[in-house]
Amino acid sequence: MEAQAGNEGVSQVVLEAVNIDFSYDNGYKVFENINIEADSGKFVAIIGPSGIGKSTLLRILGGFLKPDRGEVRLMGRVLHEPTPEVALIHQSIVTFPWMTAEENVMLSMKTKNMDREKMEEKAREALARVGLEGFEDLYPKEMSGGMRQRVAIARAFAADPYIFLMDEPFAHLDELTAEGLRQDIYNILFSGETPLKSVIMVSHNLTEVLELADVIYILNNIPATVVGRVDVNMPRPRNPRNDDFNANLDMLYSYLTPPRKRE
Ligand code: ADP
Repeated sequence: MEAQAGNEGVSQVVLEAVNIDFSYDNGYKVFENINIEADSGKFVAIIGPSGIGKSTLLRILGGFLKPDRGEVRLMGRVLHEPTPEVALIHQSIVTFPWMTAEENVMLSMKTKNMDREKMEEKAREALARVGLEGFEDLYPKEMSGGMRQRVAIARAFAADPYIFLMDEPFAHLDELTAEGLRQDIYNILFSGETPLKSVIMVSHNLTEVLELADVIYILNNIPATVVGRVDVNMPRPRNPRNDDFNANLDMLYSYLTPPRKRE
């Protein structure tokens, strides 16, 4: 059965990039006419050669960088600046060493006019959601890398976002930890118990992408544009040793040719 978050069965565009052009201040044009859509209940992955603009695109989607042309829309409204409704999760694990797990999670609620008791309750709830019940009082140095990444995800959850933007979220973890966390994350994300409706993940690990994604956008060329969109219909859980999986992997690799400079 396909997981559906939010409005059951009704597909709704959560976040979209429409006709985006973007150049950095030094004049380097990263994107020309990017169109991407994340629908409710869908796990979206963005892949492309290194340096093509994947992290830049996530920052545009989060409202941290302003496109030169086009717009980002969150639930139909134009996004002009970062909002807690869109949570960006970085590839480096950002936890503050002088704060406990619970205090790290509470950081994301500081801007909401909430009393301390309510914040603590929500933080504990978010930690339990990522499998850290009972670890609320640990400091980052007492945790493994996987646990710290779970704290970072709990912090994102506690702000009640509609969408997660994840930049290589498993890149700094050992493979066994990453594997466990990937499976948990997918289940948590689409449990339907939170306002979260969709996820956009950037990754260079194509096996990981095929394991998780419903939709894959491929970026290539300079300036970059979307050169392919793949809907992945393999049943879950997906097995990387399966023939179908490998055929899909080959197809994705075939898109990742060295970027060509466009005329
Ligand atoms: P990816 O995530 O796909 O590896 P990035 O989004 O990090 O790619 O970078 C895209 C391109 O933009 C790269 O060529 C990079 O060197 C350039 N770039 C990134 N940040 C800046 C910046 N602040 N100023 C100028 N160029 C940048």
